[in-house]
Amino acid sequence: MQASDTIVAVSTPPGRGGIGIIRLSGPQALELAGKLLRRPNFEPEPNRVSLRVLRDPGTGEELERALVTYFQAPRSFTGEDVIEFSCHGSPVLLLQIVDALLRLGARAAEPGEFTLRALANGKLNLSQAEAIRDLIEARTTAAARQAARQMGGELSARLQPFKETLLEIIVPLESSLEFVEDDLPNVEIERLSARLSDLIRMVDELAATFRAGRLLKDGLKATLVGRPNVGKSSIFNALLKQDRAIVTDLPGTTRDALSEVINLEGIPVLLTDTAGVRESADAIERIGIERTRRAISDADLLLVVVDGSEPLTAEDQELISEVAESPHLIVANKCDLGSFSLQRLLQVVTDGVEVIAVSARTGQGLEDLRKAVLRSCSAPENSIEGLLLTNARHYDLLRRASDSLKASRKLLEESASEELVLVGLYDALRYLGQITGETTPEDVLTQIFSTFCIGK
Ligand code: GDP
Repeated sequence: MQASDTIVAVSTPPGRGGIGIIRLSGPQALELAGKLLRRPNFEPEPNRVSLRVLRDPGTGEELERALVTYFQAPRSFTGEDVIEFSCHGSPVLLLQIVDALLRLGARAAEPGEFTLRALANGKLNLSQAEAIRDLIEARTTAAARQAARQMGGELSARLQPFKETLLEIIVPLESSLEFVEDDLPNVEIERLSARLSDLIRMVDELAATFRAGRLLKDGLKATLVGRPNVGKSSIFNALLKQDRAIVTDLPGTTRDALSEVINLEGIPVLLTDTAGVRESADAIERIGIERTRRAISDADLLLVVVDGSEPLTAEDQELISEVAESPHLIVANKCDLGSFSLQRLLQVVTDGVEVIAVSARTGQGLEDLRKAVLRSCSAPENSIEGLLLTNARHYDLLRRASDSLKASRKLLEESASEELVLVGLYDALRYLGQITGETTPEDVLTQIFSTFCIGK
């Protein structure tokens, strides 16, 4: 990493908007801004906004009147001198200004490079930097709230006592290593082993929150299947009407007209309505069926819709046996009709499969359906409470720390030499440190920051 050059990027999203912000960070920020403003000794008061004329460095032509703010090192986001230009949100204009700054000697920032500098300058730790990215990418308010908590340092604060406890276990082992003649007395081994067990429990407890945290971040794919006319589209629309999420894409999903993201208590659920699972010779319908089969195999949860106002047809039964191996629940629709019978259905459906009675028409039972969807993925009762691990990297490191601690505890209890016990303890310490970045290798850092947006 080169921290000595001055980097520039547009920090607002691509496209037209009310304002567009350009960020310039590095030791030459003031000098380059001064050239752009044609004010050689530009040194404005820090943290104060002023309206300035930006000029093309070659021709002197006026490019823009922008609000310019100077954040003086080290009291800036990156810890370096930072200048922010708030311009009119025209992509063409923003490019012109960035181009002018590049010609003056700035370098185009890599994705996440401002944040990387903030990390290098100790303005935040790695898990906080990752939380900034997660906040930007959050799809639900619950996910945004988790990211905000981690950005505020809650995860690092949670890890700190783990590291302290670990050091308290390491120190007596190290000193016993120095006095070779004295083996650790049994009471001491027991005491250390009990402390290790406590620590392992805490690490595992935090790691276990990842299941819920991942759902919060990546969401769940639920797919409506069933023969035509059972009411799939009606259910799809009824759920959508109440729960449509603001952002409508989830990673790794191809969205077509029949997929939308809904927000179930903070968990983004990609709901897909299929074209109808039916054998057909018709080419176009076959494509639909192909897509449907793919949607089925992609889904985390299948919602098998049947018309509860009639007995199950052979087609319904066939579908139910086809999905038997996949996570699914049965949605008995049209419970508003007099001929609806849950009893009749329950006689046919295999034990253990959940059946929910709903009416897309009246909305009855939809709340039960939402709850059943959340239950199916073991979403916590209230996913908004408590700190959740949302990052797979953090989860992986906690698991590794836990495994190393367990290996050390086993060695300790077998009265193995302190040297051997210490290996796993130091590994665990390193893994914990990698979460917050103290011990993260450079290539891992580069990889993490490549997933950031440019200008962040
Ligand atoms: P799809 O082919 O499975 O998507 O089924 P649709 O959603 O198109 O619904 C088929 C028919 O059933 C339509 O005429 C709907 O108005 C009707 N329908 C859907 N849901 C209900 C319901 O809950 N109650 C009643 N009475 N009719 C429904």
